[in-house]
Amino acid sequence: MRKLMVSEQIEARGILHEATLNAMRKVERHQFVSDYWSASAYEDHPIPIGHGQTISQPYIVAYMTSQLDPQENWKVLEIGTGSGYQAAVLAEIVDQVYTVEIVQALGHSAQARLKMLGYQNILVKIGDGYYGWEEEAPFDAIIVTAASDNIPPPLIQQLKDGGKMIIPVGSPFETQHLVSVHKNEEQVLAERLLAVRFVPFTRQEAK
Ligand code: SAH
Repeated sequence: MRKLMVSEQIEARGILHEATLNAMRKVERHQFVSDYWSASAYEDHPIPIGHGQTISQPYIVAYMTSQLDPQENWKVLEIGTGSGYQAAVLAEIVDQVYTVEIVQALGHSAQARLKMLGYQNILVKIGDGYYGWEEEAPFDAIIVTAASDNIPPPLIQQLKDGGKMIIPVGSPFETQHLVSVHKNEEQVLAERLLAVRFVPFTRQEAK
């Protein structure tokens, strides 16, 4: 099912980034959803993970990962751990993944799941990802998986010179776009990519 997911939903839509495809053939997506949803884990849509949150559609995970073009020696920050699936896909490619989740229960279950699956290169923190992860900065890349009205300045700050960020920008009730941000010594350049629909970036734990 994983091989079919990759060939029919991802390669067929033009994503040919080998490292991303290999990681998505490997990570057992059904381990990241509840038993109720596990039979649909490889289908072409997002899946509820509780607390009003969702794990993104496989194509979107692949798209965002491939846009970063992650390299083996990289240190990557993710904001919005959710189930831990995106973090696991990145951890198959890069040295170290740091991921921040604002909903305590989700952060804890993702941490337990990633440990059970044997990932030793992912660190999960509970907190407001708006502030990034200062102690571990700078990062080669940052990936944000909840939609924000603006690009949080602390995240731009925590990006290395030459670093990249991908973030869905737009309010929950408008069309959001994935924005790719490149930072170098002189400037920060933002480029709009495809239209998407993400759960909102929040500033306090969902009740
Ligand atoms: N990347 C996840 C899917 C994330 S859904 C996966 O692969 O499963 C978006 C997640 O972002 C939710 O879990 C939500 O609780 C979290 N989130 C929203 N606002 C946040 C913030 N300010 N800081 C950290 N996490 C946040």
